[in-house]
Amino acid sequence: MYKCHICGESHQDMPDIHSEYPDQYWDVAPEERDRRIKTTSDTCEIDGEHFFVKGIVELPIGDEGDRFGFGVWLSLKKENYETYLKNFDSDEIGPYFGWLCNSISYYKTDTMLLKTMVHFRGDGFRPVVEIEETDNPLSIDYHQGITLEKAWEIIHHYEQQNKSEPDGGHNSGSSAASIVTP
Ligand SMILES: [Zn+2]
Repeated sequence: MYKCHICGESHQDMPDIHSEYPDQYWDVAPEERDRRIKTTSDTCEIDGEHFFVKGIVELPIGDEGDRFGFGVWLSLKKENYETYLKNFDSDEIGPYFGWLCNSISYYKTDTMLLKTMVHFRGDGFRPVVEIEETDNPLSIDYHQGITLEKAWEIIHHYEQQNKSEPDGGHNSGSSAASIVTP
């Protein structure tokens, strides 16, 4: 149980924040998406030319091994994407280079196209995403960790955003412990 400094409530389970699709998905006109995009909860292909996989960026919280998760999309080269499809739940592939393909709105400095390495885990787990060390705030949080207070600040940012944009976020139904954001 954590007594929150931001809202004054006590919190227990910490949700992850998930981007529903790579940002490139939203660049395709809604009426063209069925024809041009193939997507599952873990993969996305646009025009048979752009290949994305879903992974998790884990920010360390404090010193006790806790982590805060951002579910994000990474663009892989075609060959690596196809290897992933063929070895979907394997930890024997990769790691592969990926471009981060979401602007994480909590961060004022854009996170789009940060360089990452995607590590595959198998056992039903999504790949984990290693962010290149730069002075981008997401990279700093990934490498240096965040406080529990900041984790809740991020969560409240998205709860607030989903409230103010009724169409902006909806739970995918896949996990009650996720806040889904476009
Ligand atoms: Zn709170």
